[in-house]
Amino acid sequence: MKKRFIALALFASSTVVFAAGGTSWGYEGKVGPDNWGNLSQEFATCKVGQQQAPIDIPTMSATKATAPIKTNYKASAGEIINNGHTIQVALSDAGGANLSGVDYKFLQTHFHAPGEEKVDGKSYPFNAHLVHQSADGKLAVIGVFFKEGAENPVFKEVFAQMPDKEGKVALKGKIDPAGLLPKSLAYYSYAGSLTTPPCSEGVTFYILKTPMEMSKAQLEQFKKLYPMNARPTFPLNGRKITETN
Ligand SMILES: [Zn+2]
Repeated sequence: MKKRFIALALFASSTVVFAAGGTSWGYEGKVGPDNWGNLSQEFATCKVGQQQAPIDIPTMSATKATAPIKTNYKASAGEIINNGHTIQVALSDAGGANLSGVDYKFLQTHFHAPGEEKVDGKSYPFNAHLVHQSADGKLAVIGVFFKEGAENPVFKEVFAQMPDKEGKVALKGKIDPAGLLPKSLAYYSYAGSLTTPPCSEGVTFYILKTPMEMSKAQLEQFKKLYPMNARPTFPLNGRKITETN
């Protein structure tokens, strides 16, 4: 039952406003990350959880992971949602990924500025989280860092169509999640949580080591809507990091 709840919570956060509950939250002040756990009983995990995301990945402590990431993404129709906290691209039939030997279906990708995870203290200006779900309801996220450089063709499509107020639009054409991934899928993996309320745990992260590029103009375009939507990093609390090369 717990896993099912996590999935429902994720979908709830993708709608314009929280369908049930409706507790408003944000990234600064009284409704900011330090206070999420106090805003609602349903958000308690944000405060008391011991496996919270994001983290600052200590690369020296990483041990060898069991399996490389395999993807079978394809271009899909979908919608672009401005949910008041980020821009999210939900795709109905975009294939999926095999992560640690388990098959996952791609659900959605959404964006953070600055990037949420850090690597040995280093941060990036932007990251994409690609959210996946297994047949038994488990969530896994592939994280991709972006640095300033060449224009990204997927963002060109998405940012041209994204609603600048809360709401959603049907995607014109199709998007292939593969356009957000670097050639190398080498990763650091850790056990974490949703990085937005209700901060539910049981989410496995695969943070890609190789950053992608987006143009300065694209970064500014996103930041015009969301200048800061990254949750601060959390202590490891004994969690193990694994990696592939
Ligand atoms: Zn995220």
